[in-house]
Amino acid sequence: MSVRCMVGGVAVGGGAPVVVQSMTNTDTKDAASTAQQVAELARAGSEIVRITVNNREAAAQVPEIVARLRDDYDVHVPLVGDFHYNGHTLLREFPDTADALAKFRINPGNVGRGARHDSNFATMIEAAIEHDKPVRIGVNAGSLDPELMDALMEANARLANPRSGSDVLREAMVRSALDSAEAAEEIGLAHDKIVVSCKVSRLPDMVAVYRDLAARSDYPLHLGLTEAGMGAKGIIATTAALSVLLEAGIGDTIRASLTPEPGGDRTIEVLACLDILQSLGLRSFRPEVTACPGCGRTTSSVFQELAQTIQARLDERMPVWREEYPGVEGLHVAVMGCIVNGPGESRAANIGISLPGTGEEPRAPVYVDGEKVTTLEGPNLAGDFIAMVEKYVDDNYRPVKGTA
Ligand code: SF4
Repeated sequence: MSVRCMVGGVAVGGGAPVVVQSMTNTDTKDAASTAQQVAELARAGSEIVRITVNNREAAAQVPEIVARLRDDYDVHVPLVGDFHYNGHTLLREFPDTADALAKFRINPGNVGRGARHDSNFATMIEAAIEHDKPVRIGVNAGSLDPELMDALMEANARLANPRSGSDVLREAMVRSALDSAEAAEEIGLAHDKIVVSCKVSRLPDMVAVYRDLAARSDYPLHLGLTEAGMGAKGIIATTAALSVLLEAGIGDTIRASLTPEPGGDRTIEVLACLDILQSLGLRSFRPEVTACPGCGRTTSSVFQELAQTIQARLDERMPVWREEYPGVEGLHVAVMGCIVNGPGESRAANIGISLPGTGEEPRAPVYVDGEKVTTLEGPNLAGDFIAMVEKYVDDNYRPVKGTA
């Protein structure tokens, strides 16, 4: 098991639930829009949010962003500063920014070359020690330390049986991360103040690299398939990669690096992570609706519309339910299309409805905790079922008076 690293008030690793992270795409020097997007990501379920700190103007605004989150949004999510090239300068010049951040992300491939690499890296680690912050050693295939890569390639070329280029790349990433973490500890950073990541854009490389990291160290691991892409392709590739590792018990925190549509909703990357963790049974965030895909047995769109209406209604009610009905995120609702699998899936859910398929009687049995309790029919069927779901929640998740 990995050691536990505290990021703000959030536990990462050491058996803690897998943490959901995200990253803003606003210009950090625009404190208003950055605070707004951080608040949106946090409210969608992101438990840690990373912002780029790429220049003096951006660094100067970090305390203001934290203040706006607190005062305007009542959001207290830990913020991670993403540093490349000039982090050593910015962290020294802006101590209030170093204080306001909950963690520093350092990319060892982007801290300078030769002797400057070591001194810049040391400056950032010393800032982390001074401000009592953890760091993420975040290696990325696209910005791998070229000196390390060249050295490993040369050594590989001298072997009687040289390994493939992709094997050398994987080893270079793992070595970059673990050597940097070791260097940080030699400078004085505590072992439990380090999180490690090695992001690549190809799934087989990512899985191999993280398996290796998990076997060779006990640092908490931040998982992500970098540059996963847009739309369904990005979500599917991310889900596949993260699932393989999470199912093997590897990974303490995750991010889905999805490219949003122009002007699109950034929170999609958070929702993808929530769904991945919930689908794997690792965490519960919102009630689950099991809906069948439909087939030739159901030619009307009634059940698709009902499944959509139910999911939308549950999502809409969740902010209030979460406060009023502890544990409601574990609720399981089934909306099924016909008699083939409908009764079975509906019985297995907390509450389920089996709609009539084509040619079946226009009646829909409803099951509560495995028992058939009624049969709905008529134009108000959707509304009637939603009312039953609401009642189920009130009956089963309302805290008993006198309990905390
Ligand atoms: S439950 Fe019925 S409608 Fe839904 S996929 Fe199965 S056979 Fe088709």
